[in-house]
Amino acid sequence: METTNTRLNGTRSIKTSCTLDCWDACSIIATVKDNKVLHLSGNPQNHITGRTLCSKGTKHTHMLYNPNRLKKPVIKIHNSWHPIGWKDALDLIAQRMEHLRENYPTTALMHCYDAGNGGLLKGIDQRFFNAYGGVTGPRGSLCWGAGITAQKYDFGDVLSHDPADIVNSKTLLIWSRNPWDTSIHLVPFIEKAAQNGATIITIDPLKTATAARSHHHFSPLPGTDGALALTMASILISENLVDLKFIDSHVKGFSRFCEYVKAFTPQVGSEITGIPVRDIVFLAQAYGTKKPSCILLGYGLQRYSNGGNTVRAIDALAALTGNIGIRGGGVNYANRRIPPYIDHDLLQATGLASHHRQYPRPGMASFIEEAQSPPVKMLFIARTNPITQAMDSNHLAKAFSKVEFKVTMDLFMTDTADQSDIVLPCRHFLEDEDIIYTSMGHSYISYCNKAVEPDPWIPSELWVFNELAKSLKLKGFPVKGREWWLKKAILPLTTHKGITLDQLKTGPVELPGISDVAWEDLKFKTPSGRIELYSEKAREEGHSPIPIYRDINPKPTGQYPYRLLTPHYRHSLHSQQFVLVEDGVLPVAYVNPDTAADGGIEDNTEVFVCTRVGRLKCRVKTEESIGRNIVMIYEGWWIKKSGGVNQLTPERETDMGCQAAYYDCLCNIRSL
Ligand code: SF4
Repeated sequence: METTNTRLNGTRSIKTSCTLDCWDACSIIATVKDNKVLHLSGNPQNHITGRTLCSKGTKHTHMLYNPNRLKKPVIKIHNSWHPIGWKDALDLIAQRMEHLRENYPTTALMHCYDAGNGGLLKGIDQRFFNAYGGVTGPRGSLCWGAGITAQKYDFGDVLSHDPADIVNSKTLLIWSRNPWDTSIHLVPFIEKAAQNGATIITIDPLKTATAARSHHHFSPLPGTDGALALTMASILISENLVDLKFIDSHVKGFSRFCEYVKAFTPQVGSEITGIPVRDIVFLAQAYGTKKPSCILLGYGLQRYSNGGNTVRAIDALAALTGNIGIRGGGVNYANRRIPPYIDHDLLQATGLASHHRQYPRPGMASFIEEAQSPPVKMLFIARTNPITQAMDSNHLAKAFSKVEFKVTMDLFMTDTADQSDIVLPCRHFLEDEDIIYTSMGHSYISYCNKAVEPDPWIPSELWVFNELAKSLKLKGFPVKGREWWLKKAILPLTTHKGITLDQLKTGPVELPGISDVAWEDLKFKTPSGRIELYSEKAREEGHSPIPIYRDINPKPTGQYPYRLLTPHYRHSLHSQQFVLVEDGVLPVAYVNPDTAADGGIEDNTEVFVCTRVGRLKCRVKTEESIGRNIVMIYEGWWIKKSGGVNQLTPERETDMGCQAAYYDCLCNIRSL
């Protein structure tokens, strides 16, 4: 089994994979000598991610060897931090959990986790807390939940084409997505499609790096993408650009959908979206005539209170034109090809829980404050930094302060770790072993072989939960090693696809026997087996059965005239790489020069960006690329490093999927 390759100069090449919550899940080769990672490069065995790593990937060694990394557990005593041994720290946590279990339903413990550090075994904490008795866990999403729910209503599941299939497209709509900054491995395929003669169109309120490189860029007003899609649908129908044969065979609800979209004339669509009539007509005609047409969907357009319906309206465009199940087509939002081959029940074991309670990810602060029977007495936080990343940071910090005992596991002393009582360090992925895949893009599975030993010794999360399980005598959490869990977790993959753990260790391995084309067999997993423009399931769950457009609220006012958009930063995966930002540097609030001039805001000055829940000191930068009346601040910047844009975002949920509606946020800019 060849997972490493030792050279004459003593360096070894070790196969691993990036564990950041990114579209790409790059396969990586680490060059190592004397227990030191010298260099990281992409592993070309992964034909999608190839040899290139993005700037976040190249920063992994800066994170690994950062002098500020936590190396030992620490405990807060009288508001100051003190080192504590692993045994004492875990004994204290176990005692607290034992006491809580004796006096309350176990849901008094709230387990807060997300996707900050990918890997199958990272999710073993869910089994641990279910074996403990069942705790309060998260539901919904800070990231993509509205779109996931929408696509499940429409198609019955969420599948994408192989990224390389983009080259077969003749028209490419890149809708609210910015591959040049946030999924760089799509770029060569987009460029190849353009060389083949495809028209590349970006739809985004911001003139992103991707928009700047496209043949056409259209800027709908924030939150109006759904109206744009419905207007395009109306034009496709009225101009007979729909594929009636495909609709007859594979689409449910066409006539009811037609009835609804009649009202979205080009004029109406233009008034709502701010895009001129001729441009909307061009968009519809380009998408409907120059086929196959592919849509690459991003996540920003569903971060509004109408986000789920927006994704459903965009899905409808592909259904109407028969751009589903064909090469070069599709609505590529996420790609859940691999999860069916993983034994999630083994890792989660929800059946072990006697108590069940969930908190909504977009409403964490309110939930903690309002929870009764039982109140939240203890927080256990892993793989996430909610004080920085969840909505309404100040409210959340206040809610945290009322919880008696908080434990955080992290690489660094984050804003969330700061608010805790015990902080446990964890391993960087280059010090650990696990299995990685992406649910967003390609269909490769990579094994993270351990590149180096942590120095000083830091245990894996599995070791931590094994020790706690022993202390708490948890029958449902067998104390086993990594290999045992991973072999069992991939048993469906081994049984149905013949892929073993040893094979993965020498991989990456592409999931065999699947088509590059999503829904190629046109067997949709909806109740009707068709694409459902009319979804009974959506209706039963309290939504409109057909995709509708609703204006987002609140509306700009004199007090808060600008909309705040907080997209992902090219150089950090959420808050993680912001640890590398120098202290004292202010975050940047980007505004259009005209907006700045109208508001009397001077470029390069320090200001407060204010919303109804908070304010943030920023430096203004005027840029033509920002739409009018928009303030754009990248998310992720730590509060303790003068950032924290979620101090500005009120708790708010999307129409479906319990997704954080971050972009339903109005703001103003005030002088200091
Ligand atoms: S962040 Fe994404 S693109 Fe960058 S190295 Fe990791 S997986 Fe690859």
